[in-house]
Amino acid sequence: MPSGTVSSQPDANVAAAVDDPQIELIGVRKVFGDVTAVEGADLTVADGELFAILGPSGSGKTTVLRMIAGFEQPTAGVIKLGGVDVTALPARHRDVNTVFQEYALFPHMTVAQNVEYGLKVKGVPKAERRRRTADALDMVRLTDQAPRRPAQLSGGQRQRVALARALVGRPRVLLLDEPLGALDLKLREQMQIELKAIQREVGITFVIVTHDQDEALTLCDRLAVFNDGRIEQVGNARDVYENPVNRFVADFVGTSNVLDGAAAEALMGRPGMFVIRPERIGVFRPGTDPVPGVRTVEAIISEVIYAGPTTRIAAIAEPDITLTATILTASTWLPPDLHHGTPITLAWPEKAVHQLKFEE
Ligand code: ADP
Ligand code: MG
Repeated sequence: MPSGTVSSQPDANVAAAVDDPQIELIGVRKVFGDVTAVEGADLTVADGELFAILGPSGSGKTTVLRMIAGFEQPTAGVIKLGGVDVTALPARHRDVNTVFQEYALFPHMTVAQNVEYGLKVKGVPKAERRRRTADALDMVRLTDQAPRRPAQLSGGQRQRVALARALVGRPRVLLLDEPLGALDLKLREQMQIELKAIQREVGITFVIVTHDQDEALTLCDRLAVFNDGRIEQVGNARDVYENPVNRFVADFVGTSNVLDGAAAEALMGRPGMFVIRPERIGVFRPGTDPVPGVRTVEAIISEVIYAGPTTRIAAIAEPDITLTATILTASTWLPPDLHHGTPITLAWPEKAVHQLKFEE
């Protein structure tokens, strides 16, 4: 099935359900020569929302952001900001600011001068400029770094300077393109929480582009999943994770056991395409009987991957179906001594099985 069938289904996209739209994309397409970067995108982001655009590299995320900012003109379609058609409006007249992945701070200026610069260009009076710069630095907790230069800062601090610089002009909309991409994992996780707190505090609509599904789920109020220039699904983190509309979303957002064909017939007792998240599958002693509402299958462990708090177990059930279960390492009911070749019973609640609407 072509993935386009999905985005043409009205229920795959909750664009119409937003009360107070700040950003609207209506049938937006972008073609570069013979590459279609964005294919008929319909999307609505509410005022004050923290919205994530998630998708693999090359799926059209940056292009969408650049069209919202006005750096790129759509080939077709309409873009509205605050209810006003801005499709033909140049970037400098849009109430939008962008944080790029390469922060592009001025190396010869201090932190405070970097943040203040945009206001200076706009001709904001000095006293107000100083006050707003101080507020912005306070917001990103960089007040004590104000006199330093970018080269004297850590990666996380530079990221916060870029954020302060974008916030100081108080745009209605802030666009962030892979803003945490340059940071290592620990710092990235810390910044995700900070970014969320800052967004809540300023109440500005944030659109964050990321290829990292954990980041999108952690950060956002809602997200759009992009694939090859198309929007596959729009929803809140729970919707998208628990009810993926198709195999692409099920595989890209989290890890999934996807069963179809003979495997579906064998394990579900009916044809179709089904998704079970690994954390929904329990591991028990072999020969464990099912209880009502729970399905079980006998399997042989093929792989045990210890990952600290969780352990991932891959097991093979008849007829040659590999299922992955993620269990809490500390589970007391865990059969001891799990390794390659151990017979086990896998069990999952029937209600944990999600049937995909569309067959591929
Ligand atoms: P993402 O941000 O999701 O990685 P992009 O929006 O940057 O994806 O790119 C989407 C597609 O459009 C890619 O195939 C990319 O090569 C192409 N593309 C983006 N910008 C241009 C451009 N200025 N000229 C030609 N092709 C482009
Ligand atoms: Mg990009």
